[in-house]
Amino acid sequence: MDKKINIMIVDSLRENDSAFNVLFQNPELEIIKCESGHDALKAFSNHEFALILLDVGVPPARNGFKIAELIRQRKKSYEIPIILISDDEALVFKGYEAGAVDYLFKPINPVIIEKKVEFFVNIYRQKKENERTKAELKANLTRVENSKREIEKNNIELKHISKHDNLTGLYNQRHMVEINKIEFERARRYERDISCLMIDLDYFKEVNDSCGHQFGDFVLQDLSESIKEHLRESDFAFRYGGEEFMVLLPQTDIDGAYATAEKLRLFCRDHIYDNGTHITMVTISIGVSSLLANKPKNPEELILFADKALYKAKSEGRNLVERYKSTNDDPFAGDIIGLKNRIESILDRTKQSAISSIEILVKETGGEIESHNKRVLEYIEKAGKKMRMPKTIVDPFKRAAILHDCFKHLMGQSVNTSNVLSPEDRAILESYPYMLGELTELFDFFANERSVLLFHHENYDGSGYPEGLKGAEIPLGARIFSIADSVVAMLSDRPHRSKKNIEDVISELKTNAGKQFDPNIVEIFLSILNEQKTDQT
Ligand code: GH3
Ligand code: MG
Ligand code: MG
Repeated sequence: MDKKINIMIVDSLRENDSAFNVLFQNPELEIIKCESGHDALKAFSNHEFALILLDVGVPPARNGFKIAELIRQRKKSYEIPIILISDDEALVFKGYEAGAVDYLFKPINPVIIEKKVEFFVNIYRQKKENERTKAELKANLTRVENSKREIEKNNIELKHISKHDNLTGLYNQRHMVEINKIEFERARRYERDISCLMIDLDYFKEVNDSCGHQFGDFVLQDLSESIKEHLRESDFAFRYGGEEFMVLLPQTDIDGAYATAEKLRLFCRDHIYDNGTHITMVTISIGVSSLLANKPKNPEELILFADKALYKAKSEGRNLVERYKSTNDDPFAGDIIGLKNRIESILDRTKQSAISSIEILVKETGGEIESHNKRVLEYIEKAGKKMRMPKTIVDPFKRAAILHDCFKHLMGQSVNTSNVLSPEDRAILESYPYMLGELTELFDFFANERSVLLFHHENYDGSGYPEGLKGAEIPLGARIFSIADSVVAMLSDRPHRSKKNIEDVISELKTNAGKQFDPNIVEIFLSILNEQKTDQT
């Protein structure tokens, strides 16, 4: 059941009591009767009233108007409607001034009082209802605000998760694709540079294998911190995959990117990873590419180039930073060591296949590579490792051992070394190394070509380079190549001049016969060119 509604009656006389009875009998009402203005004002501290019925003749001083004014002035009661009870209709206006909203005249008619009270009680109910709805609305609004805040917080977290890598806290690969595209296009639009680093841990599998995956994860986290510390605010670091990282450096050229990468590499080389249980050191390899130096066609190619450079860093021994170099333009410009390494590796394969062919020859002639030889190879390998010699030095030693056995088999053992040697046998035995050397010389298949390349800029009159050789001192091949090369050059268009016709070439050769060129070979070339001229006409 609803709470009863409080009605205050302020009246010290008994004359109205019979009319008040209808109110007392109403079960919905709680009637609080005050005998004086003083009691009435006190009652506001304990109750909330819907209506006040106030007899103007109430004590003290029988001044109901004064009490009405006081009720109006108080914060707790100023809104409560007051019905003044009086027997003097002339006082109506005074009552309104004091704050009354209505009047009851004595003797009070019970029907009228019941109706008037009912009217104000309904207003009070309405007011309460409104207050409740307002409070509910406010509560609903607060709930909506709270869930909105919750959703926003959730969204921020989700956004963070979708862009970041769980383990390292760096940006993830998905976000990398997005940022790389944006930054690449921005750099291109404003004609600025942008560089990319691809970073991979060297021999990281060994760390996992020897210290466990958990420690491996610790290393990845620690390294991620190092990467971040080496970057600027405007740079981006991503975890590209397992133990690979990508860094984007906007507004940075290839030299700047290389310097950053090198600093990071050196830091990592000297850094100790220690989680209290395990301790290790790990190096990293880095590939560097950039927009202006490498001219990638799209953001994906920028990454691809850095990845290729990384591959090169790995193949050149790891713990290295490599710039991307296109294989099309000046592949080895200024990098004579790189070129030498590449050619050596081609020759290594050639040597290997030559040795394999000789081994086949050994088999065809009934021989076999002895286990003795295999053991020799193992010892050479072990000694090489202990002496910290690189593969490029140890491999020739091993190949020599194989050739030694092959050649010995192929030459046959005509001397029995278990007996005391006769002087003749000793002489044969001592000639063996010379024979081995001579056979090996057969492999020096570019020895003659070498002399042509070395001396093809010598001039017949001794004015050329590099040695200033003269006449027949210059190898024949170099003298022929020098003229052939010049003739072809003169007959072709070059960036700085247009080609000569055959007639002009002939006269040029004649002018230089005995100076730049061997006059006898010039004669031969003149006859070739004359034949060519006749063919053309
Ligand atoms: P290198 O790069 O020098 O050629 O040798 P590597 O041993 O590092 O070879 P690779 O780059 O192929 O290594 C991949 C290894 O990285 C495999 C796995 O052991 C390790 N790895 C990849 N992702 C994680 C990871 O999330 N946590 C841990 N602990 N290890 C990982
Ligand atoms: Mg690796
Ligand atoms: Mg890897």
